[in-house]
Amino acid sequence: MERVYIGMGSNLAAPAEQLREALKALGQLPHTRLSGVSSFYVSDSLLPGQPRYTNAVAALDTALEPLALLDALQAIENGQGRERLERWGPRTLDLDILLFGDRLIDEPRLKVPHYHMQARAFVLYPLAELAPGITLADGRALDGLLAACPFEGLERL
Ligand code: ATP
Ligand code: MG
Ligand code: MG
Repeated sequence: MERVYIGMGSNLAAPAEQLREALKALGQLPHTRLSGVSSFYVSDSLLPGQPRYTNAVAALDTALEPLALLDALQAIENGQGRERLERWGPRTLDLDILLFGDRLIDEPRLKVPHYHMQARAFVLYPLAELAPGITLADGRALDGLLAACPFEGLERL
């Protein structure tokens, strides 16, 4: 089993309910255990004109390979009505693989650590609840990323 952290987000159709629904689905994935969930956080969209986002991070222990897990996450997104109309458009559910054990993955469909996580308070602060003091597979310390990414604008529910 490898420890995986999933970044979860929603800003459509009752976002907190979408995240709770997704957590149920994550808990039912094969060869996988849902091992932890952060608090939920609300913040303004990074792009203007979108509803506010609700975000959280989930910890999984899984025997699935990374691309199999990505397929499963995309099936959950689609099952909850995710439409891909524009890049970074509003969405019922986004499930991103932030970290996958100590792996560095650079494939066309999957980059791990997730390539924008260092700039996103709504990823770093919930991750820190579950994995305080962690060092990423690429050697970066989570504490260093947090220090460079203010909590400002996040509301912890
Ligand atoms: P962002 O990646 O900036 O958070 P997004 O989550 O809205 O944007 P999506 O539309 O959900 O982007 O995904 C676009 C593609 O990103 C997916 O089809 C997937 O193949 C790819 N991808 C690359 N790395 C990852 C990752 N670590 N987790 C999830 N998807 C990834
Ligand atoms: Mg995303
Ligand atoms: Mg995504």
